[in-house]
Amino acid sequence: MTHAIEVRGLSKSFRADRKALDDVTLQVAPGEMVALLGASGSGKSTLLRHVAGFVAGDAGEIVVNGRHVQRNGRLAANVRRVRREIGFVFQQFNLVGRLPVITNVLVGMLARVPKWRGLLRVFRADEIRSGLDALAQVGIDDYAFQRASTLSGGQQQRAAIARTLVQNARVILADEPIASLDPESSRRVMALLRQINRTRKVAVVVSLHQVDVAMRYCPRVVALRHGKVVYDGPSAALTPAMLRDLYGTEADELLRDAAPEDDASIAPMPAPALVTMHLAAA
Ligand code: ADP
Ligand code: MG
Repeated sequence: MTHAIEVRGLSKSFRADRKALDDVTLQVAPGEMVALLGASGSGKSTLLRHVAGFVAGDAGEIVVNGRHVQRNGRLAANVRRVRREIGFVFQQFNLVGRLPVITNVLVGMLARVPKWRGLLRVFRADEIRSGLDALAQVGIDDYAFQRASTLSGGQQQRAAIARTLVQNARVILADEPIASLDPESSRRVMALLRQINRTRKVAVVVSLHQVDVAMRYCPRVVALRHGKVVYDGPSAALTPAMLRDLYGTEADELLRDAAPEDDASIAPMPAPALVTMHLAAA
């Protein structure tokens, strides 16, 4: 079976005295949902950016959907082609605020964006329809023709996820997608990622720094510390004691929001009926 993501011996240093990634090896199967857990500075963003082919490591290799993203410190010659199958969701949404939501979403169809201005005109009617459908799937089709900047953070993040749907991504990498969102929006975004993962069998790797969120939405956790994988296994098996063992004092950062009294606020919410319906039909 081809892995959705395969990382072998990936290392990266930005400075001579410190490794941001230290011999990272992991595989993600198609249809898996994995939380990438770790304190600030542990290497989560760096790892996701390498998998996405934004940057080349110093050593090691990365294969996504059977195609090399990079090998031995060099990006693959056809990395653009590989990137097309990878949806990337950013903490700060990465939408162009002055452009309509639908335009931002349709960008997912383009391998390369020639020009932002007047972009909507380059899309065919059927493409615009599929963009609207993706927005309906994430529950914000009513906002399609508003400027992206007029949406709430949670809505903008859902638009960013709609962009990966239009892109027909087989792999979604989400780098702290809920770090800028309120608890209610966080729930919706996590539930949406899980829904897409389940119904479309898209592999999802989502970096988080809250253990409780990881455990609720992701069956598997890969935990990083100082650029090394220190745990890779079922999230159900992660206990606070184990985290303190793995992370020492940094464990507090990961466990901070996991106090029992907060439990109700992060209980998974069923995705909107609309989402279920559309995804089931897809
Ligand atoms: P996380 O996302 O888990 O907070 P990062 O991947 O952003 O961690 O960072 C891991 C380490 O790499 C940190 O020490 C950070 O300072 C360093 N780092 C990340 N990106 C760069 C960069 N572009 N230049 C220099 N150092 C970087
Ligand atoms: Mg980060």
